Amino acid sequence: MGLMYFFRRKSPWILHFNTGGCNGCDIEVVAALTPRYDVERLGIVRKGSPRHADILLVTGPITRQSRDRFLRIYEQTPEPKVVVAVGNCPTSNCVFNGCYNVVGPLDKHVPVDVYVPGCPPIPEAIIDGVLKALPRLGR
Ligand code: SF4
Repeated sequence: MGLMYFFRRKSPWILHFNTGGCNGCDIEVVAALTPRYDVERLGIVRKGSPRHADILLVTGPITRQSRDRFLRIYEQTPEPKVVVAVGNCPTSNCVFNGCYNVVGPLDKHVPVDVYVPGCPPIPEAIIDGVLKALPRLGR
């Protein structure tokens, strides 16, 4: 494994993107990033640009409005990258299944590496999902 993969796994930077959910999962993602859980001890840092990210943390179903923007962000994220689906929405569309504007689930559009189930999942499960994604950064 190259040095680049080693350091990415030791300090994964994440980008959080809501593709049209109810914000329930986003509140849990924000809670997971607070000092209470201190994820920086694991090297996890939230970034505002996809160009700096290793892990895409996706919440919500994919909607017609968000699809193109999300795919652009996905393309802008450098390889190697992993996608973590947070909550039931990106996995199965959850309560939004069948809505006229929903074109998910997420794995219809991009490969998903880790699924974190729940509506919404608790912060510990989200952190666990990020840690499960780390070995995939070195593929
Ligand atoms: S999984 Fe549940 S809490 Fe999360 S965005 Fe969907 S409906 Fe909201």
